[in-house]
Amino acid sequence: MKAANYDAIVIGTGQSGPYVTSRLAAAGMKVAVIERKVFGGTCVNTGCIPTKTMVASAYVARVAARGAEYGVDVGPVRVDMKRVKARKDEISKQSRVGLEDWLDHMENCTVYRGHARFESPHEVSVGGERLSADKIFINVGGRAFVPDMPGIGEIDYLTNSSMMSVDFLPKHLIVVGGSYIGLEFGQMFRRFGSEVTVIEMGPRLIGREDEDVSTAVREIFEHEGVQVRLNAKCISLAKRGGEIAANVDCTDGAPTVQGTHVLLAVGRRPNTDDLGLDKAGIAVDERGYIVVDDQLRTRVPGVWALGDCNGKSAFTHTSYNDGEVVIANLLENDPRRVSDRITAYALYTDPPLGRVGMTEAEILKSGRKALVGKRPMTRVARAVEKGETQGFMKIAVDAENGAILGAAILGTSGDEVIHSILDVMYAKAPWTVIRRAMHIHPTVSELVPTMLSELRPMDS
Ligand SMILES: Cc1cc2nc3c(=O)[nH]c(=O)nc-3n(C[C@H](O)[C@H](O)[C@H](O)COP(=O)(O)OP(=O)(O)OC[C@H]3O[C@@H](n4cnc5c(N)ncnc54)[C@H](O)[C@@H]3O)c2cc1C
Repeated sequence: MKAANYDAIVIGTGQSGPYVTSRLAAAGMKVAVIERKVFGGTCVNTGCIPTKTMVASAYVARVAARGAEYGVDVGPVRVDMKRVKARKDEISKQSRVGLEDWLDHMENCTVYRGHARFESPHEVSVGGERLSADKIFINVGGRAFVPDMPGIGEIDYLTNSSMMSVDFLPKHLIVVGGSYIGLEFGQMFRRFGSEVTVIEMGPRLIGREDEDVSTAVREIFEHEGVQVRLNAKCISLAKRGGEIAANVDCTDGAPTVQGTHVLLAVGRRPNTDDLGLDKAGIAVDERGYIVVDDQLRTRVPGVWALGDCNGKSAFTHTSYNDGEVVIANLLENDPRRVSDRITAYALYTDPPLGRVGMTEAEILKSGRKALVGKRPMTRVARAVEKGETQGFMKIAVDAENGAILGAAILGTSGDEVIHSILDVMYAKAPWTVIRRAMHIHPTVSELVPTMLSELRPMDS
């Protein structure tokens, strides 16, 4: 079969595929973009957008329940899960339809609907057709990892994808996995009215964060009535009556947690197993992530891998940034690299956690001499006024050259405030620039300079 020839093929319409497509098409290239399922991928359909929409509903439920604390009587709060889901579906749909429509009407772009597989380094099949191009961009993303734990085949479990269809209130939701995805779902369903137990194999929640962050998040969760079970070494699942029992070999607490529904949130795996990568000679690592260099080139010339499937990061902004790196190199004569970017992300619990740069543990490991400033949100006027004083903020700077090394803001607006620190880090300016800046009162941001005027040597 003769292949239809394009200048470029983009596989997947996640967070970088559409951007790359639009830039190449605008540059006059003939581009084929292939999507096997729903346009927009994880973020739009089963990730950021729907979960943050649901987090917003959960926040309203929480504030309403606390109404009396603010002098507002609202009566008993009742959450209508069908309407929560309908609102989520509508917001998600707007993004999906907008993206699909944009690609469908894009000049120089042809949209193929179907599962793409490599047939050779520069040939891809989709449905009954074959396409070829000198340049191919892989943006296939990932999916929930389902661990091979005992009993998993005997029960019905939920993942972040199937959670999207839940339009009822689980009586008792067991969340397996105490990291970012599990915590967001766990807190929101608690606020909707479910009993929630979070089971985590490690000794603390969000184990990649510093211990003080993990502890504070745990306290916030327990304060809202979420049960947290740590050190759950050998988790097994079984049907018990009409419910599900999770056996957990924890150091303390009952050996079994019984609930009505189980959400698996124990990590992601890349969608690279059915892509014909072997036919193209494209290398993957032991976990299936496509091996790329600092400019996202695979080992096959003319083939790039962007977003979650390259294992360099797993966020929407990092996937989009991957697209910018590739386009800068290809079209703008700008040799941007992935390593130019500074680690930045947020956890959308309430209060949220905004994070940039290194953790304290990473700084200690690096052997750098550092100073650290820390302030509880109880000492931030804006947080007190809003009645949202949980959490703290902290920042670490290099004791020798004044560079900002990292920060964590677990507190109201932490996901936004963190950017005032991130931008100074990108400007490569020393921390003294922020300390001398006049910030607006009353905000959370105004206490960042204050925190910087109270730096102390970091404990070793
Ligand atoms: C519950 C949850 C919440 C999240 N919240 C956040 C958040 O708040 N902030 C944040 O930054 N990140 C968040 N993320 C992560 C974020 O969603 C992903 O990092 C982001 O979507 C980047 O994905 P991507 O561009 O790599 O590909 P994806 O968005 O996964 O898209 C890949 C696309 O490729 C398609 N595809 C796959 N294989 C093929 C094939 N063979 N042929 C054709 N098409 C194919 C898929 O159908 C899909 O449309 C969250 C993730 C989850 C699961």
